[in-house]
Amino acid sequence: MPLSIAGFVTGVFAENTYMIFDDASALGAVVDPGEGALGLWREASAGRTLDKILLTHAHIDHILGLGALKDATGAPIYLHAADRFLVEELESIAALYGLEVEPAPLPDVEWKDGDRVRLGETDLEVIHTPGHSPGSVSLRFSEGVFTGDALFAGSIGRTDLPGGSFEVLERSIKERLYRLPEALVIYPGHMGTSTIGEERRSNPFVRG
Ligand SMILES: [Zn+2]
Ligand SMILES: [Zn+2]
Repeated sequence: MPLSIAGFVTGVFAENTYMIFDDASALGAVVDPGEGALGLWREASAGRTLDKILLTHAHIDHILGLGALKDATGAPIYLHAADRFLVEELESIAALYGLEVEPAPLPDVEWKDGDRVRLGETDLEVIHTPGHSPGSVSLRFSEGVFTGDALFAGSIGRTDLPGGSFEVLERSIKERLYRLPEALVIYPGHMGTSTIGEERRSNPFVRG
């Protein structure tokens, strides 16, 4: 049974928070809980259980709703170890944007390339796609892939933030994401969806 996906644009950074549901098991997960994610989860989940909180990376816009969601549900948080520093330093990073935030909870599980995460009967594969941040991952399932801020529709993530590198991001996109099946739908961390084939053919920043 396919995964149901609901996307929400959150906060001043217009970050995409996704609620995903394994219809066979009535379990759900939140990918990148931006500002207000707990309220969005309560509306979208219709009583289903939050099984996991999945972080493509730990930039502030993707975790502004993390603490409240964790406090309310206790669901385990998954993040790559190389982005842990971004959670630990959240308060000082927030100050750079003129924001005052509570400390965010640290990950319960540090996943790595090749790991498989189950949501009910749905299988998600972790693909390490660093370059935008060192611990950025993409999450592949049968019909799509959550790319975080690595690859967007017609664009790519910025590489000027701490731990970022254009060369590393280019390699992640060319050698990992562009090798996925053409028809796979891209669900990025900002803006609209695309497909692997479309980006491989026409993305102006990383040529296929
Ligand atoms: Zn980011
Ligand atoms: Zn972002």
